[in-house]
Amino acid sequence: MNSACELIPDVPATPRQPVPTPEAKRAPEYKLGSRQAHPSATIIRVGHAVFGGSQFSVIAGPCSVESEFQLVSTAEAVKDAGAVVLRGGAFKPRSSPYSFQGLEEEGLRLLRKARRISGLPIVTEVMDSSDIPLVAEYADILQVGTRNSQNYSMLRKLGKVDKPVLLKRGLMTTLDEFLLSAEYILASGNEKVILCERGIRTFETATRNTLDLSAVPVLKERTHLPVIVDPSHAVGHWRYVSPLAKAALVVGADGIMVEVHNNPAEALCDGAQSLDPSLFLQLMNELRTIGGILGRSM
Ligand code: PEP
Ligand code: MN
Repeated sequence: MNSACELIPDVPATPRQPVPTPEAKRAPEYKLGSRQAHPSATIIRVGHAVFGGSQFSVIAGPCSVESEFQLVSTAEAVKDAGAVVLRGGAFKPRSSPYSFQGLEEEGLRLLRKARRISGLPIVTEVMDSSDIPLVAEYADILQVGTRNSQNYSMLRKLGKVDKPVLLKRGLMTTLDEFLLSAEYILASGNEKVILCERGIRTFETATRNTLDLSAVPVLKERTHLPVIVDPSHAVGHWRYVSPLAKAALVVGADGIMVEVHNNPAEALCDGAQSLDPSLFLQLMNELRTIGGILGRSM
């Protein structure tokens, strides 16, 4: 009786040739962002963070700015553990209009203070086009949240800002649509765009969203822009954040953005998915070990 194994001819293994997919052969619509047009990687430096090179840069901090103590103590903890950018929302896109909406300009002032004390540059979200000048006065990197990922008039305006933009993937956007969103910023004059995969909507309910890790190698192939991963908003629970943060490093992301809170149980927003400082330190140590094997500095 023939088994399947016996039918396999004994041919010498030859190295597999790359086969360009039809998409890869066709000139993409995202002319400025495409790898075809610009083969070398775009490297974006902000303070000690480098996005797009061999360094793996970690952004960390609370979901929302809540108070001076909360922000400064978290900033110092993440800095000591090795984060290179502090995150914190002052304008919060909440699903319910009755949830905490952020401290707005007072939050931006606290971020500036935390930057002065910790030395970390800050990234914070701009939720409305009319807030761009105010947020740009305080932030080192302007974040576009998932809900504004296809707000094309806002993306055009961010193209006029002389600061990097961290663009999150929309809940329901394909990778080509994501790259076209980035193209709006690039085409309006701002070349400093960092893409962020943060989970997409699927039928799965065990996690808040589904982290599309395959987005990382696909994006890295299609674009020269840096690509980072936000495991916190993807999974929605602190227990799953560290495994996916490590996976992001392994699949070739340029960095991660992780929510860390000095006291997650009391957080006004996203406490369930926030790491406390000791879990964050443990994650950073593990990332350094894996990064050492992969030749990625931190
Ligand atoms: C955030 O990072 O603060 C945030 C609101 O994330 P997202 O836009 O990905 O939901
Ligand atoms: Mn959050």
